[in-house]
Amino acid sequence: MGDVMIAVEKIKEGVVIDHIPAGKGISLLTLLGCSSHSKNVALLLNANSGEFGKKDILKISGRELSQEELSIVSLLAPCATVNIISHGEVVKKFRPELPDVLRVGSCPNPKCITKIEGAEEFLKEGNEYRCKYCERLFSPEELVSS
Ligand SMILES: [Zn+2]
Repeated sequence: MGDVMIAVEKIKEGVVIDHIPAGKGISLLTLLGCSSHSKNVALLLNANSGEFGKKDILKISGRELSQEELSIVSLLAPCATVNIISHGEVVKKFRPELPDVLRVGSCPNPKCITKIEGAEEFLKEGNEYRCKYCERLFSPEELVSS
């Protein structure tokens, strides 16, 4: 079985998210609200990543990521690197950091008031997040996958 490739080509302006753990590329695409059918988006699945095994790579051309979207990347794929591309060159490369206050994702506690009222807010404590409303602690991954 060869690698699965969908319209992968070098982009001139945009963002390349590299080192996404294999299998998480599609979730990330969905959470970022991108359609895999969009011609501005290319998802490379199960690419070889040397000693680290397999990885997914997501390329989004023609736009940058907002702070919220970078939070999503850091939650779902803490090891991912974000490359900002301008004029066909990588102008910035960084690993998005977990934010101190998180306003994306939803509280996994089914009885939490945010289920009814929305307005989720989670405060970082170590490597976990505490829901401001029900005060339970959750791992970053629980928040984005619930
Ligand atoms: Zn809650």
